[in-house]
Amino acid sequence: KANRSMHPDDTVIDVCGRKIGGGSFQVIAGPCSIETKEQITEVAEDVKRSGAAFLRGGAFKPRTSPYAFQGLHEQGLDLLLEAKKATGLPVVTEIMSAEHLPLFDDVDIIQVGARNMQNFELLKVLGKIDKPILLKRGLANTLDELLMSAEYIMAGGNEKVILCERGIRTFETSYRNTLDISAIPMLKKKTHLPVIVDPSHAAGIRFMVEPLAMAAIASGADGLMIEVHNNPEKALCDGAQSLTPEMFDHLMKKVDKAADFF
Ligand code: PEP
Ligand code: MN
Repeated sequence: KANRSMHPDDTVIDVCGRKIGGGSFQVIAGPCSIETKEQITEVAEDVKRSGAAFLRGGAFKPRTSPYAFQGLHEQGLDLLLEAKKATGLPVVTEIMSAEHLPLFDDVDIIQVGARNMQNFELLKVLGKIDKPILLKRGLANTLDELLMSAEYIMAGGNEKVILCERGIRTFETSYRNTLDISAIPMLKKKTHLPVIVDPSHAAGIRFMVEPLAMAAIASGADGLMIEVHNNPEKALCDGAQSLTPEMFDHLMKKVDKAADFF
């Protein structure tokens, strides 16, 4: 179902009147994790002012260490939905367990994180709902594996899948992951599904986010997901890669020009 040969036209997913895929360019922005009411509402207003179309924020966080901040869970989702109401921005947030699905009723796009890309039972459950799924590429997964995971969702009847390249593990250790730019034109060839890029988790370092974002646009991405925090030094998760609202505003001015050019 994901194969371009079966479906030559680009899939366009309409989320609250915002089109993803088929030549539109959309930016999802917000903090790694929802931390406080002040933090999420302030960042939501900032990214909206700069032109983001969607607000992101994690409430269930897949952390490497069980002692690291795990997210605010249900309370975090409530704060995210308050920020949605205040700004009108549709929201994107990660699900880690199918058991939590009833909490996601008012979430506009459900994210499956890199670490759950091959959680096939979760994918099957998400295939049975009518909501767009943002499926992130696993840390060490091939494009065909990513597409098979999309297939798990689509096989159940939910064809609203957005793919996300977020960097893969390589031998290089100077940055968090290696953004696989080649994945963009190859995925666009193999599939009709929209492909967005998350340069924040690829880079792991703030200064690299903008150049990688530009490379993603030049390579044909349908959108970007960018981490933004109003006080990155104090962030409970991924502060080093989070842009300040000022940096995000600068990035968005360049995104506008680049998206017009390419
Ligand atoms: C995230 O988007 O917050 C995240 C945890 O990303 P990934 O699953 O790509 O590591
Ligand atoms: Mn993060």
